[in-house]
Amino acid sequence: MATNTMLKPDDSLDAFRAEVREWLGANFPKSLIGKIAAMMSPQGADGAGADGAAWRKAMGAKGWGTPTWPTEYGGGGLSRKEAAVLAQEMASVGAWNPIGGMGILMFGPTLLEYGSEAQKRQHMPAICTADIRWCQGYSEPGAGSDLASLQTFAEDKGDHYVVNGQKTWTSGGQWADWCFALVRTDKSKKHEGISFLLIDMKSPGITVKPIQMISGVSPFCETFFDNVAVPKENRVGTEGEGWTIGKRLLQHERTNLSGGGGAARMMGGGAKSLPDVAKEHLGVDSEGRIADAELRLRIIKFEMEWRAFLLTSMRVVQEAKASGGVSVVSSILKTVGTKLGQERAELMIEIIGLQGLGWEGDGFSAGDLAQTRGWLGGKATTIYGGSTEIQNNVVAKRILGMLDHQ
Ligand SMILES: Cc1cc2nc3c(=O)[nH]c(=O)nc-3n(C[C@H](O)[C@H](O)[C@H](O)COP(=O)(O)OP(=O)(O)OC[C@H]3O[C@@H](n4cnc5c(N)ncnc54)[C@H](O)[C@@H]3O)c2cc1C
Repeated sequence: MATNTMLKPDDSLDAFRAEVREWLGANFPKSLIGKIAAMMSPQGADGAGADGAAWRKAMGAKGWGTPTWPTEYGGGGLSRKEAAVLAQEMASVGAWNPIGGMGILMFGPTLLEYGSEAQKRQHMPAICTADIRWCQGYSEPGAGSDLASLQTFAEDKGDHYVVNGQKTWTSGGQWADWCFALVRTDKSKKHEGISFLLIDMKSPGITVKPIQMISGVSPFCETFFDNVAVPKENRVGTEGEGWTIGKRLLQHERTNLSGGGGAARMMGGGAKSLPDVAKEHLGVDSEGRIADAELRLRIIKFEMEWRAFLLTSMRVVQEAKASGGVSVVSSILKTVGTKLGQERAELMIEIIGLQGLGWEGDGFSAGDLAQTRGWLGGKATTIYGGSTEIQNNVVAKRILGMLDHQ
């Protein structure tokens, strides 16, 4: 649980800034500067070794990985202004947030809104310290875009459910401790027949089979449920409320998958910018500009779009927080952000040239290989969290007010 001795929001931010600086100076290992890529590893920050693990523990104990979440559930309890100061100070020393994963990005905010007091007290603290890993049991072989067609059935057995069925594309399922899942509790209704269950991945009857992606890694799985007993107190919300809760979670997911938040974190973590990489690989002209004039123009155009997107994305996130939550605008952010993310990866490969097309071998550095695999892995961003076509449908219907063609 966080020990928050910080000043109240209306006290001097200068004093708060000084306290943050001192704390970062004492706790952020400088060896981690530029190592935010560890967050993409299955171990998260711990993938950066002992320093990464120590940094995660320190931030988790302070509650600053989830700065604005309530202290009683392990968050930092900071005001938005204080959280902004924290982010600025972290960025200025190359520190990055070591608390991540689905617990932070989508499940935690949803549980804060819909969970019972007991559920929040049980699950939130370990989300805020990233000690527990969550996976998402939504998609099924016959229910992706048309998610409400899901068939995994939770049969009512009095004080518990017995779950049978199959989920697919379960990211991190092989490493997860818990799964938040959409299951059917009533076969006679489509949307109203769905409930939101929290399932302990160690429960007898769960089998997880990793699937390999084009990028060569196996970050997601088929997950089979064979007579899995789940206590009823693990249902979030009422029976049949799962569709409403599940959609809210998707809004958080889409906001985070848009790339804006991720990119901002990468910048704070000292990741190299596209122009810097281009100067390194292509050289500079007599005025210190990227030597290849044609590519330079395309990079500038991209950087302008990217920055405009980041600012818009940050503004929307702030507006959402001020108005009490995420909205369907998350669909616009996801579509634009993932498209720009893919464009960035294409440009990066072009800049790096043949070195960016290696698969393995001594001729390629770890950085080169990460670019290739990131470029291939990034193809999935316009599919997961709801495909671009589905986001466009949401925007057409829910924002533009266009009707379905029958
Ligand atoms: C890397 C990765 C990780 C994932 N992680 C998870 C996870 O952790 N948990 C989880 O539950 N799921 C996960 N998913 C699943 C993801 O949410 C689905 O892949 C996605 O919702 C699309 O569903 P589908 O694959 O069944 O494709 P389909 O729904 O079969 O769609 C196929 C194509 O048809 C288009 N299409 C479908 N319906 C329409 C429509 N009405 N209008 C216009 N076009 C349409 C789609 O846009 C797509 O191009 C992951 C997927 C990927 C690729």
